[in-house]
Amino acid sequence: MNQDLRVDGQRLWDSIMAMAEIGPGQHGGSCRLALTDEDREGRDLFVGWCRDIGCSIEIDDMGNIFARRDGRNNDLPPIVAGSHLDTQPHGGKFDGIYGVLAGLEALRTLHEHNVTTEAPLEVVVWTNEEGSRFAPAMIASGVYAGLFEKDYAWARSDSDGKTIGEELQRIGYRGDSPCGEHTIGALFEAHIEQGPILEAEQKQVGVVVGGQGQRWYDLRIRGRDSHAGSTPMPGRRDALVAAAEIISMVRDLALDFAPQAVATVGEMSVFPNSRNTIPGEVFLTIDIRNPDEDKLAEMARELRVCITDCIDKNELDFGLDEIWDKPPVNFDAGCIAAVEAASRELGYSHQRIVSGAGHDACQVCLVAPTSMIFVPCAGGLSHNEAESAEPADLEAGCNVLLHAMLTLANR
Ligand SMILES: [Zn+2]
Repeated sequence: MNQDLRVDGQRLWDSIMAMAEIGPGQHGGSCRLALTDEDREGRDLFVGWCRDIGCSIEIDDMGNIFARRDGRNNDLPPIVAGSHLDTQPHGGKFDGIYGVLAGLEALRTLHEHNVTTEAPLEVVVWTNEEGSRFAPAMIASGVYAGLFEKDYAWARSDSDGKTIGEELQRIGYRGDSPCGEHTIGALFEAHIEQGPILEAEQKQVGVVVGGQGQRWYDLRIRGRDSHAGSTPMPGRRDALVAAAEIISMVRDLALDFAPQAVATVGEMSVFPNSRNTIPGEVFLTIDIRNPDEDKLAEMARELRVCITDCIDKNELDFGLDEIWDKPPVNFDAGCIAAVEAASRELGYSHQRIVSGAGHDACQVCLVAPTSMIFVPCAGGLSHNEAESAEPADLEAGCNVLLHAMLTLANR
């Protein structure tokens, strides 16, 4: 009987549009930075909607919200859906919000049809996923998963010196229960893909099997400042010339490991940054990613060799610091199977996919069975007010979410 159950795609769409009106952007998106008044308003709207269908609300001391719909056996750990409601400064309407409101729509559908599950169901809102106002990103799911100490998280401050702890208090979302103690039986995070693959492959649903690993580096290249006019070309120690070679080597490194690898130099400072002085020093960042741990390690080794060769050839010095090493994550086989089976049984075109971006699910999967459901977004564009997704795709992903949750909750 439950096989025929479908979510209300229009209601899901209307809810996403209503949420987008809180902290509206100038160009059709949203600006709802973590723990601002807008964030509080968005949270209040969500909590009100959950109470309307009889959910109870628990808030932990990192401000994570768990809205619960009881099952027949409430001693079972809950099956949870969710994501985040905060946005980038020029954020879209769907990143994060879709995952939260798809979870709500699943619960609304069950409420409307009077369906009781065996295990309880919940929708979670994770605090400060974006990391735009407070770095690092995904900090509250990180505390939940034991990756960060709570005191560290509370003390993170924005550019005005306001801390997460103070701002949680101020907006009334610093709850009583200790973050990390709330049990999760399984977590599904529905999300727009934020990449071009599903659209290119004309698939409605991405069965996400994991998230890629990444390593971040700080590279400092040291040469010698000297006069741009009177220093002959031979014998110059130009750090910026080496930096230029390294930037294209980083691009080539990713191409060598195609199609899964990506690599980026996104930030650079040139010293002394004067047009008639040969640059004596350059600082730049390198970000390399690969879903395969061994290949990521191989990329890291090759990166070091390439940089060393380039620096030697140009007779310079360098310091390379690996400042972050996040291994790839593999989602839970049972959760992946539930998403795949639901996609198949509901007749949606689908394929397995790896997440390019980081998500709360990539943290929580370290402590609870987890997987994700992707839906296409136009042009793969995200972190942009023009971010857009088709109502039919959002509805498809939400139906998959509902049925994956039912499978696990009635197991
Ligand atoms: Zn997101």
